Amino acid sequence: MKAYVCHQNSECYLENVPRPDIKEDEVLIKVKTSGICGTDYHIKKGDFQTKENLILGHEFAGIVEDMGDKVEGYKKGDHVIGDPMTPCFHCEYCKSGQVNYCVELPGIGVNEDGSFAEYIAVPQSNVHQLDEDVPFEVGAFAEPLSCCLRGFDQLDPTQGENMVIIGDGPIGLMMVQLAKLAGISDLVLVGGEKDRKELAHNLGADKFLDGTKAGVAEKINDYFKNGQIKNIIEAVGLKQTLNLSLKIKTYGSQILWFGVPDPETKVEISPQEVFEKEIKLVGSLMNPYTISRAVNLLENNKIDVDPLITHRFKLDDIEKAFEIYENDNKRIKIMIEGE
Ligand SMILES: [Zn+2]
Ligand SMILES: [Zn+2]
Repeated sequence: MKAYVCHQNSECYLENVPRPDIKEDEVLIKVKTSGICGTDYHIKKGDFQTKENLILGHEFAGIVEDMGDKVEGYKKGDHVIGDPMTPCFHCEYCKSGQVNYCVELPGIGVNEDGSFAEYIAVPQSNVHQLDEDVPFEVGAFAEPLSCCLRGFDQLDPTQGENMVIIGDGPIGLMMVQLAKLAGISDLVLVGGEKDRKELAHNLGADKFLDGTKAGVAEKINDYFKNGQIKNIIEAVGLKQTLNLSLKIKTYGSQILWFGVPDPETKVEISPQEVFEKEIKLVGSLMNPYTISRAVNLLENNKIDVDPLITHRFKLDDIEKAFEIYENDNKRIKIMIEGE
C-alpha cells in the first residue's frame, strides 16, 4: 500500500509498504480522510522524537476492511473514526483513569504507524462508529475536537461568563463554537493577519480583533469596559500570544494554554499577580475519554467544520499539501483523501 513514511532524519517520502497485519483485537481501516495537523508538521520538520520509519497522520475516518478474531461489534463496511491515543491501561496513571499521562503515549502517528496511508490497523478500543450520513472529512475532526473538549473540561467555563480566544486556526474556530454551546455570553476572538473576521462572526464570535495590530490588549480591555475577563484560551503556542494571554488577565481570570509551544519557549509570570488576582492557569493534554462526545457533536451538526476545510489533496499529492500548510496562510484545515 502507499504510505507517507518519516525516517529518523525527518526525511519523509510517499512509499510502498506492506499493508499492516492485524492483531486479534485490531480493526483494519481503509482510510477515507485524514487531516493534517500541527503535530504532523512538527514531526516532518524533525522537532519531535518519534519511532523510526513512522507513517504519519492521526486525525482520520474510514471504512472497516477487516478485523481480528477477538473484535466484536464491527463489520466490514462500517464507517468509523480512530482515536490515536493508545494508553497501556496498566501503568499507575492508566490504572487511576489518567490515561493521557500514560508512560507509553502519545500513540498513533507518533510512536505507532498513522493514517497517511491506504490502510491503518487500530486496536478495537480506539475505533468509534460514525453515522453513515456524516462525511468522512467531518468525522476526521473527531480527534482535534476531542482535544478541544479536554481543554474546555480543564477550563470549565460557566454559562453567562465571557471569554477571549487567542488564535483563529482550526482549534480556535472549534473553540469558538464550543464556547457558544457552553453558554459563553460575550466572546472575543483574536486572530492573525489572514482575514477571518466574517468566518469568526459566522461561527459565533461576538468580536474579532486582529492580534497582529498594535494595542490589541488595550482593545480587548476596552471591549470589556476594563471589567473582568473570566476565561482566556490561548490556542497558538507562540511567545507573543502566550504573553497576550497573561497581559489581558484580570482578577479571577482562568487561563487555558492550549497551543503547543516550541520546547524552548519561555514566558515570564509574576507569582505575586497570580496570588493577588487569584489566577488559574491550566494546560490540556490530548483527549482522555472525550472522543465519543466529539463524535456526538459532529453527528448532530453542533459543530460546523465544513468552513474550516480549505484544501483537499490525494495521498499522492501529500507533499503539495504540506507545502500549502507551510506557505499559505489562508489555509485552515487540509485534508488528505483516500481512494
Ligand atoms: Zn492533531
Ligand atoms: Zn499507561
